Amino acid sequence: MEIARALAYADAHWDEYVDLYIRAVAQPSVAAQDYGVRACGELLRGYLEDSGVDGARLMETGGQPVVFGELHGPSGAPTVLVYSHYDVQPADPVDAWNTPPFEPTLIDGRLFARGAGDNKGQLMANLLAVRSLVRTGQQPPVHLKFLYDGEEENASPNLPAFVDAHRDLLRADLCYFADGQVHPSNRPVVNFGVRGQLAIEFEARGGETDLHSGHWGEVAPSASWKLVHVLASMKDAQGRILVPGFYDQVRQMTEADRTALDEIPYDEAQVLEIMGAKRVAGPAEFGFFEKTLLRPSMNLSGVQTGYTGPGARSAIPSRAVAKMEMRLVPDQDPDVLFERIVEHVRRVDPDVTVRKLKGLPPSRTALDAPFSDAVITAVANAFGQAPILFPSVGATSADFVFTRTLGMPSFCVPYGPPDENQHSPNESFRLEDLRRGIACMLNVMAEVAVASPVSV
Ligand SMILES: [Zn+2]
Repeated sequence: MEIARALAYADAHWDEYVDLYIRAVAQPSVAAQDYGVRACGELLRGYLEDSGVDGARLMETGGQPVVFGELHGPSGAPTVLVYSHYDVQPADPVDAWNTPPFEPTLIDGRLFARGAGDNKGQLMANLLAVRSLVRTGQQPPVHLKFLYDGEEENASPNLPAFVDAHRDLLRADLCYFADGQVHPSNRPVVNFGVRGQLAIEFEARGGETDLHSGHWGEVAPSASWKLVHVLASMKDAQGRILVPGFYDQVRQMTEADRTALDEIPYDEAQVLEIMGAKRVAGPAEFGFFEKTLLRPSMNLSGVQTGYTGPGARSAIPSRAVAKMEMRLVPDQDPDVLFERIVEHVRRVDPDVTVRKLKGLPPSRTALDAPFSDAVITAVANAFGQAPILFPSVGATSADFVFTRTLGMPSFCVPYGPPDENQHSPNESFRLEDLRRGIACMLNVMAEVAVASPVSV
């Protein structure tokens, strides 16, 4: 496989490539609003087919379709599952855009539109890399399977069931995808996992109705105090989570994890400025990246009870509610943790009920997993400098369908610029990011093809 020949083709057909990219971005595909998603899937199916991919098709899920296709490499070559998502965030607030969100506008080599970077620019980079190989008469050195999710921005509600039902079709040696931004220092990044998530809500009941606090204070049950006591029993002032067994399944950091965390650039002054805080919170024995990437978190995201308007109101609240959202790390299981929380709350106050809103397991690929070195080398080649390795990111996605359901390592390499404005007005992606993404995907194919799949 000759990378240079493929890149020369891309350069010679650059206007055509940019046009394909712009057309993909111009087709709205907002999963949250069911706006144009299937039409965008059809467009990309056509792109895959036109780029030499076999059997490109839409496949139904319980929601928006996935786009799937395959391209064979030499027999015995490893198989790469190229994941991406073609849905986008809603464009709101539309008034805050300088250009219409679904009318892609090129300004100084940068394309402004919803989905320009997240994720269509990155999806197109990987697709156009394959097209460049095929159009120069080169067989990819690896087998490729393409899987484009139509509901990622909606938390991929149907992807787990789809992947579970199509294990044979999706079987591969590794999953590779491009999403997110390079480091603010412009160094490239390889992400090896995501945290999971458990969201719950509490409801505390006092009396049947709010009661006069002068007549009933200290004898009537107070929903607000009940809720406060339950919440305070879950986390101490130092940030330690107190629910019994909460940390039991937290996986120990490896030496490699520790080294990787130590090598992530950290500027405390900048961190404090972004947070608008005087100090970093949480237990002092854990470092910033350990806390944000490899340790679980418990966020009390909302509390509502009684009266908080002007003046005083003399009543005992009969109802209090709260929402809490936790980020989980391997090997924590959202269902097991939810049961522990229910038991804990029952012990503290049986008048407080807990309901589960959503749960997604965490996902990790070991830093020394098979093909890890190949991906790292490919990224270094394409970007001209060694990537920063993130053992995990702090946020959550359905990455577990690859690492757990399909049992393969999964690597995410962001192609987006640091100022991509992902999910915000004036999202953008540079044509040079597209070009570099194409180079990165070509390098990934080349390095994976010659890599020993054996863990180092
Ligand atoms: Zn997104």
